Amino acid sequence: MPALFIGHGSPMNALELNGFTRAWRAMGTKLPRPRAILAVSAHWYIGATAVTAMAKPRTIHDFYGFPRPLFEFEYPASGSPQVAQEVIEAVRPNWVGSDRDEWGLDHGTWSVLAHLFPKADVPVVQLSINASQPLAYHFDLGARLASLRDRGILVLSSGNVVHNLRLIEWDRPTDGADWAHRFDEAAVAQMTDDPSAIARLAEHPDFAKAVPTLEHFIPLLYTAGLAAAEGRCQPLIRSYSLGSISMTCYNVGPDLDLPGEAEGAADLPGDVPPDQTNT
Ligand code: ZN
Repeated sequence: MPALFIGHGSPMNALELNGFTRAWRAMGTKLPRPRAILAVSAHWYIGATAVTAMAKPRTIHDFYGFPRPLFEFEYPASGSPQVAQEVIEAVRPNWVGSDRDEWGLDHGTWSVLAHLFPKADVPVVQLSINASQPLAYHFDLGARLASLRDRGILVLSSGNVVHNLRLIEWDRPTDGADWAHRFDEAAVAQMTDDPSAIARLAEHPDFAKAVPTLEHFIPLLYTAGLAAAEGRCQPLIRSYSLGSISMTCYNVGPDLDLPGEAEGAADLPGDVPPDQTNT
């Protein structure tokens, strides 16, 4: 089963058909049908490692300042206590808590799955990102998830390699600043050539601009751990949004043979300042 990293960008991508989301839809048609999906989303960033273990995860609308239809969106996939248990066992001796009533599916997960699996007919569990742990922990945990792929579980990491909302350029809806290009290209080279040394990106001169906070970057470390175990990784959908967000995706596993580069971007509402968007 493939493992994916998706650069998710704006929550509005859940509702829009644009260059990014058309590419995600095309990707969805190329994927084998998984038994379940394990999602690692930038938006469940807490002080512990936990996996959702409820049978019916709620759709969480974890943002504000967006149009009402986005708050009404539901992604009604079931959960799976059984798959949650498989995750807990796969990463031992690392400890993962079982979340029965706190979280659910956040927009980092459902804005992407709405296009990859629009029927919401594959069970989904989410793994939290433990904010108290160093980068090496997340890489190592990702590598330990590799055995789940053989059990028909698609590991979906959802973040953005470059994600700086303070430096958004509203007049560049589908373009990236020079520094964003430099960092994203360095990430592609690292993921392609030696994903086991992904932490080297933290020494890149543009790291502070590209990764002002870690939560959107850390999902890439899970994919890097899986890529190091697999021995190969391909970048997909090389693209940018609003100057300071990279939409680049990665696939670990056999080539998905997607149509060319994605273009286009989701429009953020023009009256919402960047610091009130939670993309
Ligand atoms: Zn986000």
